[in-house]
Amino acid sequence: MRRSVLYDHDIRRSALHRAERLSALTATERDMIRLVNEPGFQRWMEQIHSIGGCAAPVYLSGATTTRDAATGEVLRSYDTGNEPGGRLAVRCRNRRESRCVPCSYLHAGDTFHLVRAGLLGGKGTPPGVADHPRLFVTLTAPSFGTVHRTTASAERCRPRRDGGLCEHGRALGCGLTHDTDSSAVGQPLCPDCYDYPAHALWHAHAGELWNRTTRAIRRHLATSAGITQTDLGRHLRVSFAKVAEYQRRGAVHFHAVIRLDGPDGPNAPPPGWATAELLGAVVHAAAGVVSVRTPYAPGLGEHVFRWGTQLDVHPIRALGDDAHINDQAVAAYVAKYVSKSVGDCGGTDRAVASLDDIALLPVTAHIRALMSTCWRLDRLPELGYLRLRAWAHTLGFRGHVLTKSRRYSTTYGALRVVRAEHRAQGDGPSLPESDGTRTDSVWRYVGSGHTPAEAEIATGIAADLADLAAIRRELTADRGRPDG
Ligand SMILES: [Zn+2]
Ligand SMILES: [Zn+2]
Ligand SMILES: [Zn+2]
Repeated sequence: MRRSVLYDHDIRRSALHRAERLSALTATERDMIRLVNEPGFQRWMEQIHSIGGCAAPVYLSGATTTRDAATGEVLRSYDTGNEPGGRLAVRCRNRRESRCVPCSYLHAGDTFHLVRAGLLGGKGTPPGVADHPRLFVTLTAPSFGTVHRTTASAERCRPRRDGGLCEHGRALGCGLTHDTDSSAVGQPLCPDCYDYPAHALWHAHAGELWNRTTRAIRRHLATSAGITQTDLGRHLRVSFAKVAEYQRRGAVHFHAVIRLDGPDGPNAPPPGWATAELLGAVVHAAAGVVSVRTPYAPGLGEHVFRWGTQLDVHPIRALGDDAHINDQAVAAYVAKYVSKSVGDCGGTDRAVASLDDIALLPVTAHIRALMSTCWRLDRLPELGYLRLRAWAHTLGFRGHVLTKSRRYSTTYGALRVVRAEHRAQGDGPSLPESDGTRTDSVWRYVGSGHTPAEAEIATGIAADLADLAAIRRELTADRGRPDG
């Protein structure tokens, strides 16, 4: 009798304990319990594993059937009917680290291969390009006002012995030291002196300034060879890949690889007169003369935009040369920037919907001022064509992060096909088509993103995959052979 009372007591206590624990569970933990008990959980995990633990997968539903083109015989078929929820997860493919770490790494890797192929050959680009004249060029934005900067040891930020104040009563100099992490770096000494409209408008025209620069490079090359611009194409081609990087002051600058090829592209070198030295001189001249004039707007006047005075032009040496700038380093450098976004200079990488939205963002005062400036400038009918509100979150810059000319090297699409073939997994819409077959696909979007519990599992999968990749790299390094 006594025993059963005890027993009963224990049961009640453990039930209470369980209830307490259940009520103490967070929403994510309850979601996790639901998720792991779902019948398709294992297969869902496999899906997320196959997309590298993508943080924001896109779910598709549909089917792909591959037939022999001649006989119509079905060679492969796949449909999402047997998948959990009747859907298949595919990668978000976002290049931004702030949105999806695994996809941003994959994208950076693709960029590395894309840029490297243009420098060393490979991935369908002939290896001879390594002997063509190649430059690594950095073009900067002009100054829109004095900002605090990182100081080297024993250096001071904006020293001014005579002191002096601006018309707003703020010191014209700083005189302090700032390390790289200092939140002051990139912020203006006086926000009222800073020319926010010019900064935002320069961003809006930076793409056009780049286009004009590439045209001027071709023009100058023709002039220096004593031929017409139309004739230039019979002698050589100019190829490039460029990436935009946000500096701490919130202004983009461009890093570009510029290469000279023969008239038919990368298969042949340019004529002997088209040297890296000549190209260097031509880039300097072109960057110095190009400008973009903005339309007149009341209260703003008009602006004539040019590049900043800081222009770096370096020939790229072949790997193995002890020169500082080599193929591999350039490709790695460019790849690093495509995963960055305006978020890395204190901004945000999501579009904003209103001025209130901008006011609430966790950004620096400087970035907020730039965004609000874009928003306000959009009201001017003369500047309507710039659609500055749509680009307020990128501070007015509307270009792609990476742009390249057609003949530079391979494409992201081609690299993805190679990867899909390599994986040879056979499921999903990225299935490559081979000769002699016909593939019919019907896919529709059915949703995207993770629940909090799904996100936790995907993060875990991504971390496991990253560990595996690191171990594999170490093993490969131990064996002393390059990664295949
Ligand atoms: Zn992703
Ligand atoms: Zn300072
Ligand atoms: Zn001032």
